[in-house]
Formats: sequence, structure tokens, C-alpha cells
Amino acid sequence: MTRERMMRSWQVTDPAPIDSDPAPLRLVERPVPEPAAGEVLVQVLACGVCRTDLHVAEGDLPVHRAHVTPGHEIVGRVVGFGKGTGRFAPGDRIGIPWLRRTCGVCSYCRSGRENLCSRSSYTGWDQDGGYAEYATVPEGFAYRIPDRYDPATAAPLLCAGIIGYRALRRAEVPAGGRLGLYGFGGSAHITAQIALAQGVEVHVFTRGARARTFALELGAASAGGSGDPAPVPLDSAIIFAPAGQIVPRALENLAPGGTLALAGIHMSDVPPLDYQNHLFHEKRLTSVESNTRRDGEEFLTLADRLGIDPRVTRYPLERADEALRHLGHGDMAGAGVLSISE
Ligand SMILES: [Zn+2]
Ligand SMILES: [Zn+2]
Repeated sequence: MTRERMMRSWQVTDPAPIDSDPAPLRLVERPVPEPAAGEVLVQVLACGVCRTDLHVAEGDLPVHRAHVTPGHEIVGRVVGFGKGTGRFAPGDRIGIPWLRRTCGVCSYCRSGRENLCSRSSYTGWDQDGGYAEYATVPEGFAYRIPDRYDPATAAPLLCAGIIGYRALRRAEVPAGGRLGLYGFGGSAHITAQIALAQGVEVHVFTRGARARTFALELGAASAGGSGDPAPVPLDSAIIFAPAGQIVPRALENLAPGGTLALAGIHMSDVPPLDYQNHLFHEKRLTSVESNTRRDGEEFLTLADRLGIDPRVTRYPLERADEALRHLGHGDMAGAGVLSISE
């Protein structure tokens, strides 16, 4: 009998507010996972800390897998292969994202909208993620990581970056237009860099004074509080903060014909809207659900070409709970990343 190889891994034992005692997450020893057919095993080098992980830990999202390991911005090195794999070679550096599997046959999957597939599954929610020393992924849903990035810097590209890219497209910002970003964490600071590189004028609204300074350093035209009126009418806006009360103000800040995209997977209730102030003049309100693999490939190519440079704060694996608390308190510049085996 062979003895199972063990690894360190976080589990969401009992979803609850991140500051509660006992905390919702626990660091445990568990067997290294076996890659199933079509999957590869990676040794995790780094894993980003995303707001969705906080929603999983705090129970804003329902439990899909008991004692799940969170984390879906995984950069790892391929070290094992399930049956029927052949896309990657041993040692390849790959990224494991949020979108883990789709059905491939429904009308959404067949029309380039696999992000809307009702039978999709997600890393760090339906299956174990990257707050661990090893993780698996169906090889068709992984990405190659551009050489320019070290693992920790690449990690936030895999969700914060890709979702921000999709949100930017959903917001339909015109060439040379004016874009509002509400919230300025991991996703927004990457999205701002893409928009600025494309000649868009960026206006940031966020509660954190440090985040406002950071936005101006990156080249934002203005940075104010989350409830402030925009200094100029905006063509498009994206809300990254999970706060529904921002929606009416963001719609007021739009110019006629403008579009507001809501980028989060979870948001607190949106207050009643006033038709004249918030929606008339052909204003559009839309949300963003996950991403397609095509979004991911396009974004990573673009990030590499534009030299998009995520700002990361590194934490060791054993401090993942602290990283999530900092994220919850709005106390993090850029994106938090667990540096696991760099
Ligand atoms: Zn489908
Ligand atoms: Zn995410």
C-alpha cells in the first residue's frame, strides 16, 4: 500500500463573517488531489485573493461543496497528468481560473456565451481551489502564463484581470470616452490600466484614501469618494464594489446614452430607481457574469502586449485568513496574493 502524499490546504469549515470567532476558514493537512481524466495536477506557486473567496467564506454565496478550498487565481507548475491529457508538458507554467467547466452543448456554449452556461462549475466553489500546495484543473480550461510575469504578479490577472476586461467590454466605453470606476481594488486597478492604455479618460470613486492616491498615480483624471458627483458626465461606468446603494448615483453620473456595468458576482440590494433621473435618456444597466475562455485568452495576450502591471501584496499560505480580513476591511492596495511555492 502506498502512503498518500499530504499537503497544507485551507478549508471553509463553516461560512460566517470573516471577523467571527471561530473563523470560517481553517488550515488543514489533506491528501494531494489526484487529477481525474482530462485534468492536470499543478504545484501551486501563487494564488490570488479575490472578493469572491470572501463571498464563499462568509456565505454570501451558497455552499456548493462542503469544506471547499477557496482560490481561483492560481499560477502553478504542471506536475501530474490524468488520463487523456496532452495539452501541457511537465513543468509548464499555467493559470487556473474561476471558470472550471461548461457543458459544451447548450445554446449558450454553442453561441460563444459559455459564461452563461447553467451547468458550469467553478474553481474554489464547486471544486477545490488554490489556497493549497497542489490543485487540479481540466486542461482545456487552463491558460498559459506569459513569460514576463512572475507567479504572484500573474495571479490577479486570472480573475480580477479577466473579469475587469469583460466588464470593460460590457460597459461599451467609446474610443477616447470617459469611464467611471467604482471601487479600486484588484480588478479595478487592472481595468484602469487597460482603459488608460487605450486612451480612455478614467474617473475613480472609492472610499479608501490610499486607493484614491494610487488611482491618481496610475493616471486617473480624478479620484473621489464613492458617493461623490462625477466632475464630468461619464460615457460608461463599472461598479466593482459589492454595494448596491452606489447604483443610483452611478446612473446619475452617466451622460445620455451611457452604460453602467455591474462587475460583481454578489451585490447588496439596489435601492429603488427613479426613471427620469436614473434610466431615461437611454441609459443602460447591465451585469457581468464570469467570462468565456476567449475573454481569458484575449485579455492575457493584451496584458502581455500592454505590459499591464498588477500591484500585489504578498502573504504566505498560512496567513490566507489575514489576507481575506484585509480585503474585507478595504485595507489592501491593489491585489492580495498568497505566495506559496515561488
Ligand atoms: Zn453549456
Ligand atoms: Zn475572482
